[in-house]
Amino acid sequence: MAIVTGKQYMQRIDKLNNEVWIKGERVKEKLSEHPAFSGILNSKAALYDLQHNPEMAELLTRTDDTKNDLFNFAFEQPTTKEELRKRRIATQFWARKSGGTIGRSPDYINTAIMTLGSSHSFFNEPFSKNIQHIFEHAKKKDLSFTHTFINPQVNRSPHYLEFSNENENIIAAKIIKETKEGIIIHGARLLATQGGLTDEILVLPVGGNQADPSYAYAFAIPSNTPGLKFLCRESYADTATSKYDHPLTTQFDEVDSVVVFDHVLVPWERVFLYQDLTAVGKIYTEPSVNIMLLFQAVCRQVVKTEFLLGLSESLATTIAITDYQHVQEKISEVIIALEIMQSLLYTAESEAKSNRFGTMVPHAKPLMVASSYYQKTYPRLVEILHLLGASGFISLPTEKDFNSEIGKDLEQYLQAKNAPAKERVKLFRLAWDLTMSSFGSRQTQYERFFFGDPVRLSSSLYQSYDKTAFTQQVTAMLNQNPTEKN
Ligand SMILES: Cc1cc2nc3c(=O)[nH]c(=O)nc-3n(C[C@H](O)[C@H](O)[C@H](O)COP(=O)(O)OP(=O)(O)OC[C@H]3O[C@@H](n4cnc5c(N)ncnc54)[C@H](O)[C@@H]3O)c2cc1C
Repeated sequence: MAIVTGKQYMQRIDKLNNEVWIKGERVKEKLSEHPAFSGILNSKAALYDLQHNPEMAELLTRTDDTKNDLFNFAFEQPTTKEELRKRRIATQFWARKSGGTIGRSPDYINTAIMTLGSSHSFFNEPFSKNIQHIFEHAKKKDLSFTHTFINPQVNRSPHYLEFSNENENIIAAKIIKETKEGIIIHGARLLATQGGLTDEILVLPVGGNQADPSYAYAFAIPSNTPGLKFLCRESYADTATSKYDHPLTTQFDEVDSVVVFDHVLVPWERVFLYQDLTAVGKIYTEPSVNIMLLFQAVCRQVVKTEFLLGLSESLATTIAITDYQHVQEKISEVIIALEIMQSLLYTAESEAKSNRFGTMVPHAKPLMVASSYYQKTYPRLVEILHLLGASGFISLPTEKDFNSEIGKDLEQYLQAKNAPAKERVKLFRLAWDLTMSSFGSRQTQYERFFFGDPVRLSSSLYQSYDKTAFTQQVTAMLNQNPTEKN
């Protein structure tokens, strides 16, 4: 059986003993027992356990025709629209377990691994065989991945290219040596969400320096490969001990990390792109990795918008403000966002086409529109919650306060029209944790940036959108003979 249980997943991560740093110290204890990581690891474990629930197995697992082994739905290459539809339902089922707040549930990067593995003929030999093996191995072991595709934010001037050699000033991770065993990578990558908390890391090429082949590489390696370090940002979860006070932070803080490659040897069999500048330019588009990832992301964002709608309505009902027209208008804005995102997702799915590798790929344009739209809309949805909740997002006593001698006062003065005080505060804390806590602020930054810079994504939509038919209509209108009637 190739599907792990939650326990097996956590044991595997603990056993890897990855080099994870947080608050100036290397984590020595088991990651699953560390207060910064136990919440998210347990939440991911619960997702894996669902694969073993007989009622969910059909939705979340698949089998190959030839073998009886089960594998996770994300590893299935969709070849029909029906398989794409089933993929959406499974992704959304998992996403609902966190209100869409886990950006990197295992199906996200596993979708990239599946897409690259299914498109192996895009790569030259022996790299084609390598990516096929990486995919088959991941599918068989039900591996989880983090990924990184951006260089450190040092100098983003359009005129900047890093020039460095092995011994001096290397910042952006690059190939510094080739040996019989593999390639040596040295330097850093900007960010990997859940870096150190997954079995492996997928490293994809960065756009930009198209002249220097030492930046042209792609590979996947175990997270405990010697020299690989994950430097985590401050945890939001490690001081959040009460689920009542921090309902989301305690469970879903994914932790992001800078990834350092300190003379990391990447074995040849793990490399699937090497110094091939042409492949770098096409790796995201030709195998359709970007679109398959966007499909997963938009599925999740729809779920997140459902969650925001549910929260807005519950909040407004609790304090009885739903009769005001402007409140209805604000909640309608959330409804509109939900319907737009859903419609774009369904259009992309129903207009899917098979690519040359046999993958049924959703229509790109609606997904690109959804992604650009959500980068700007999500912060507005957050603002709507703030406007509805007003000071309710500030008067938020803790669970301890309720259990203390001032509890009675709180019960009396914080009650709402439609909920006793403790329930009302619980609801407001949920909305606050999604939108205003450290965890919540990161959620907003995540939706703005996780798929790329909004400015450049809009620009790529503009450039790839065929506008010819519309300019022709304008030309036709201009050329109509004004004296002719009809
Ligand atoms: C919470 C979070 C989680 C993330 N997780 C991951 C992850 O797991 N893996 C991963 O690889 N990445 C991850 N990212 C990184 C993400 O992909 C980048 O944030 C995104 O691609 C933008 O790059 P940047 O942050 O370097 O911004 P920059 O490129 O530094 O941009 C900074 C500002 O400068 C402007 N700018 C810079 N260059 C240009 C240009 N050429 N043209 C026009 N404007 C420009 C931008 O518009 C922006 O306003 C994550 C980001 C966030 C916020």
